[in-house]
Amino acid sequence: MKLRRIIGFILGAALIYFSVGAYFSDEPASKTDIGRIMVFVAGAFGLLMVISNLFATKTPQVNQAVVTQASDPIKVPCPVCQQPIDKTFHHCPHCGINLHPLCPSCSRNVSPEFKVCPYCATKLKDE
Ligand SMILES: [Zn+2]
Ligand SMILES: [Zn+2]
Repeated sequence: MKLRRIIGFILGAALIYFSVGAYFSDEPASKTDIGRIMVFVAGAFGLLMVISNLFATKTPQVNQAVVTQASDPIKVPCPVCQQPIDKTFHHCPHCGINLHPLCPSCSRNVSPEFKVCPYCATKLKDE
């Protein structure tokens, strides 16, 4: 896909190069009306190819950005600093808190805002 665009771009550039070269050459064929039209058509086609290939290389980037935004993971507020964070994060990138802490006593999942383990009543925060 990428190679095809590069080839299209080079072909377009070559067409422009040849049409410009033919236009300024002393070839009698390029001085006739048909020769001029052909040179103009070749140049316009080459320009079109170059532009379309330039835009073709830009479009996937835009699409990628849209896809990234569309598939943006659900944001949840950090239980400590309230900053929006990715639900899949293990640690808050803003305050550094462990978002999926384990109880040091029974090793079960507890919430970072829990003061006491709901399973074994072990104190989770020193206050
Ligand atoms: Zn936080
Ligand atoms: Zn526990």
